[in-house]
Amino acid sequence: MSQRPIYLDCHATTPMDKRVLEAMLPYFTEHFGNPSSINHFYGWEAEAAVKKARETIANAVKCNPEEIIFTSGATEANNLAVKGIAEAYFNQGQHIITVQTEHRAVLDPCKYLEKLGFKITYLPVQKDGIIDLKFLEKSIRNETILVSVMAANNEIGVLQPLKEIGDICKKNEVLFHSDAAQAIGKIPLDVQNMNIDLLSLTAHKIYGPKGVGVLYIRRRNPRVNIASQLHGGGQERAIRSGTLYTPQIVGFGKAIELALAEIETENKRQSELRNRLQEQLLNIEGVSINGHLTKRLPNNLNVSIEGVDGAALLLGLQGIVALSSGSACTSTTTKPSHVLKALGHSDKLAYASLRFGLGRFTTSQEIDTVAQQVVNTIQSLRQAIVNTKF
Ligand SMILES: *Cc1c(COP(=O)(O)O)cnc(C)c1O
Repeated sequence: MSQRPIYLDCHATTPMDKRVLEAMLPYFTEHFGNPSSINHFYGWEAEAAVKKARETIANAVKCNPEEIIFTSGATEANNLAVKGIAEAYFNQGQHIITVQTEHRAVLDPCKYLEKLGFKITYLPVQKDGIIDLKFLEKSIRNETILVSVMAANNEIGVLQPLKEIGDICKKNEVLFHSDAAQAIGKIPLDVQNMNIDLLSLTAHKIYGPKGVGVLYIRRRNPRVNIASQLHGGGQERAIRSGTLYTPQIVGFGKAIELALAEIETENKRQSELRNRLQEQLLNIEGVSINGHLTKRLPNNLNVSIEGVDGAALLLGLQGIVALSSGSACTSTTTKPSHVLKALGHSDKLAYASLRFGLGRFTTSQEIDTVAQQVVNTIQSLRQAIVNTKF
């Protein structure tokens, strides 16, 4: 392969912005101190950098810096939220509500808790991928301790109504956790206004480094208790022990700062490119969009294509574009996407689906190349079927 394929898989990860790398570099070498070393300059220097990043991240979601707990990513933040709440509120109840289309990093901890005796309700979604609020409210029981609903879906980009969910949870005195790994930097997040008690974030979906994330945990009104899932040196108020990874944290702060500074121009630019791709694909017969048409991330397009084989489609596009199919949520398994199944798709249609994730570095030329290649590939696959039939 002489030329690298065009990258349209920004829901899986994003390239790191060079400005983020610049900000990180001194913290690997010169400013290498342990932020917990309170006795000397090296520690203070690292702690000051962590403090600054913590403030930037807190401002981005409208919480206090003390409510930010650094983790290794959104997977860990989700595990800490779900298991940490289950353990801390065990005596109040053992029922949790989540959604069928959540990321595996929420679903799998829930399945784990089920084995321990917790009851989990997996809410279905409507045809557009959005939950039914009445159904959510009806599912809340006396024993319900937590509702976990993601902000933006990583496959179909659908945005859940966070404010309405938050209001329902507050009214019913149930904690509300949201996985906002895909939403941060793309839609406004306000944990006060939205009544969110716990929020998971990660840096590598917004042009930051891999291996760092955050769990926001509300400290006032109500004060949320959480049981640590990683014990040790007592860092992060003993909720998450382990020496803080200063360069990654600095990078996360920088990534959020850049994303927020460019949120409006980038949302507009990327959604225009997305719409241009979408128009070209919708010209072909049998192509349909998955998820709500407007309540959706600006950089997401997920389509299903009738009458083609999903594996053949991916193979046909492999050298040209890097993207995910309807089976690629976890690329180690080849099951059809649980998100597309929750929309009511057959296995076959789920496999014959493509997820496009545009990003900060996607150009209009790339979009036109990809659109043309997808159209050509679909047409030649369909032609091949016709040829073998007659
Ligand atoms: C990527 C992603 C995760 C996992 O985040 P990591 O930081 O890679 O652990 C969790 N939830 C959603 C919605 C994601 O998109």
